[in-house]
Amino acid sequence: MPLHIQTPYVRSHVASRRLGKDVLLKLEAMQPSGSFKLRGVGAVCDARRAAGSRRFVSSSGGNAGIAVAYAGRELGVPVLVVVPESTSARARDLIRLEGAELLVHGASWAEANMFAQSVLSPHDAFVHPFDEPELWQGHSTMIDEMAAAGPKPDAVVLAVGGGGLLCGVLEGLARNGWCDVPVVAAETQGADCYARSIAQGRPVELPAITSVATSLGAKRPCDAAVEWATRHAVENIVVSDAAAVAASLRFLDEHRILVEPACGAALAALDAASSVLAAASRIAVIVCGGVTATVEHLQALSSRER
Ligand SMILES: *Cc1c(COP(=O)(O)O)cnc(C)c1O
Repeated sequence: MPLHIQTPYVRSHVASRRLGKDVLLKLEAMQPSGSFKLRGVGAVCDARRAAGSRRFVSSSGGNAGIAVAYAGRELGVPVLVVVPESTSARARDLIRLEGAELLVHGASWAEANMFAQSVLSPHDAFVHPFDEPELWQGHSTMIDEMAAAGPKPDAVVLAVGGGGLLCGVLEGLARNGWCDVPVVAAETQGADCYARSIAQGRPVELPAITSVATSLGAKRPCDAAVEWATRHAVENIVVSDAAAVAASLRFLDEHRILVEPACGAALAALDAASSVLAAASRIAVIVCGGVTATVEHLQALSSRER
């Protein structure tokens, strides 16, 4: 039994009406850990436990760390999550709530990650948040569910941080014979390392993350995500923080589901200028979810952006 669930795949009447197209939502926000991360992280943790790992270690203070904590609790394996001081009280609480040991170390993620690597023992499994083939395989199962459920979309829209979700979705599209379905990869300004990498033709590193969409805050995408764009049609869209936050709030009003601005970036991309979306009549959106935002937080961001 996998740790993730099969999520609903539903047509959004309100978004379909607005765009004059069929808009289908893959509701990964419904995963028990609150984001798609559980698909890949669950697959990795399952495999590591079977191979004898006695502890899972993560350095993510976001949805990846929360998914590792969830997986460890479900599998009965202890979990250590090392996060930097910048990690919000809410994220810390969510990790502890899953029963994981939480260590706060360093001012930046790089310091927390270095510390996590330094405490690894031979029986520990470090679970990377986006750069790991078994993780991509886990993420790819969402496309199997979409292919089993219904008609082939003309485009798939998703958010990109480090590119793990993108790699998984592209692997799933290929496996299901949907190699000709273009992907729209959305990011926010200030977390747009993937669009910049594609423009340069190689992975490039942002000097800093300045976007409020913290779950997209990888400074550099994984090599595999950049390579994929040479074999599959991928269109890059960069939206503003304000557009991403507004899209999250609108999604809450229209679908009664709370998602982070990271996911709002993909939702906002539906309204952006896009040759892929203009040509599509059936659009599938990966509603990747995320648990680190609250309604109050989104509203505060929204008034700040105005
Ligand atoms: C991790 C995450 C992303 C980005 O996924 P990558 O695999 O890093 O590209 C987007 N949205 C949410 C909610 C996430 O947790």
